[in-house]
Amino acid sequence: MQDIRWKTFWVGISLIAISIAIWAIAGAIAALAFLCLSLIVYIASHIHWIHQLYVWLQDPSLNNVPEGSGIWENVFSALFQQQRKNYRAEAELESALEGFKRATNALPDGIVVLNHRNEVEWCNPPAELLLGLELYKDVNQPVQNLVRYGEFIHYLNAQDYREPIIVKSIRNAESTLQIQLIVFGTAQKLLICRDISVQEKIDTMRRDFIANVSHELRTPLTVVGGFLETMVDGEDIVTESTKHYFDMMITQTNRMRLIIEDLLTLSKIESNNEAPERTIINMQKTLSMIQGDANALSNGKHQITLDAVEGVDIKGSQAELISAFTNLASNAIRYTPDGGPIHISWALDSNRQAVFSVKDAGIGIEAQHIDRLTERFYRVDNSRSRDTGGTGLGLAIVKHILNRHKARLSITSNIGEGSTFSITFPESRVSIDQSKALA
Ligand code: ADP
Repeated sequence: MQDIRWKTFWVGISLIAISIAIWAIAGAIAALAFLCLSLIVYIASHIHWIHQLYVWLQDPSLNNVPEGSGIWENVFSALFQQQRKNYRAEAELESALEGFKRATNALPDGIVVLNHRNEVEWCNPPAELLLGLELYKDVNQPVQNLVRYGEFIHYLNAQDYREPIIVKSIRNAESTLQIQLIVFGTAQKLLICRDISVQEKIDTMRRDFIANVSHELRTPLTVVGGFLETMVDGEDIVTESTKHYFDMMITQTNRMRLIIEDLLTLSKIESNNEAPERTIINMQKTLSMIQGDANALSNGKHQITLDAVEGVDIKGSQAELISAFTNLASNAIRYTPDGGPIHISWALDSNRQAVFSVKDAGIGIEAQHIDRLTERFYRVDNSRSRDTGGTGLGLAIVKHILNRHKARLSITSNIGEGSTFSITFPESRVSIDQSKALA
């Protein structure tokens, strides 16, 4: 098909040539009359095709694209091609959407798509079942009117979706749901909901088992430890040659007692589903106490310094948080050679989050271990942990305490240079006395 510009060019040339011929045969007036008439016909034909285009645009289907003539043949042909491409793309998209719907319907997890106003756009059948939604009725409804869990509404408004929340189902008292929001596109959200009742039951059984075993072992161990100490202290019971073995037995019994105490602490924190209290903890006092305890533990072998911002306190469980801070400080002492500096700091960051950190100049930790340190019994160096009285449970306890307070632990370290363990508390847990903090 010829180019539009060529077609127009040839029409113009033909008109001029015919006009010249008429001029030569019948004179200038006849030629001018012919030219005017031709132009009127030409413009009329354009108006006709523009009208045809307008009529087609009212119902732009592939079957009724006008054929056109002259340059309009090109225009309509291009429109036809474009329309055919659109139809194909639409058909492909529809089939992809159908496939996506079939796949999401087959998922055991509930999925709800929310728009930027948090209104339901679409959900799959498991979401209807787990959250009690009805797609045909609930579409375009604000999700907070439909999923009426207090924790969920708080989660939705807080806009921190890094971790999922766990709620007891309102529809079925036996089941526990895990809900997570994921932001995508331009402020749209995907709500993913999962029934975790079975996993919860297994976790509870595991926790109860560990708690029961630890509890059952505590009394016999106390008795064995007590007898061993009595025997060592008693006259003529333990001879010089066997005393060494008795001392080893006492050390190991004490180690087992520490492990059992830590296991019991861990299972107590893990099975506590109540949010920690929000008592305001005086951080100035708490930090001086942590520094004092650290000095006592180090026995003067380390230089322990403290730098704390004033007027910034924490709302939480005092006992739990002191245990987490002490754990980090005692690790710094245990993994820093004598004489090494240890710096404890308490500061407010630019997002008004409070950060507690302990920086040591100790042995450091290789990067590949860092993500695993909070796992139970994960140790980089077993013998060093054991020799310094470690149970391998300290950081697991810290992690659980921090989870309960919505705080996060970050660790940076360089082998041979030292490590920094930092706890960041969200603004909601921070209490600021402006007059002191700004002073
Ligand atoms: P442990 O009782 O063995 O210290 P934790 O749970 O407190 O158990 O710590 C886990 C492991 O993390 C430790 O065994 C040690 O290898 C490593 N670790 C913890 N704190 C430090 C630190 N400040 N410097 C170097 N390694 C550390």
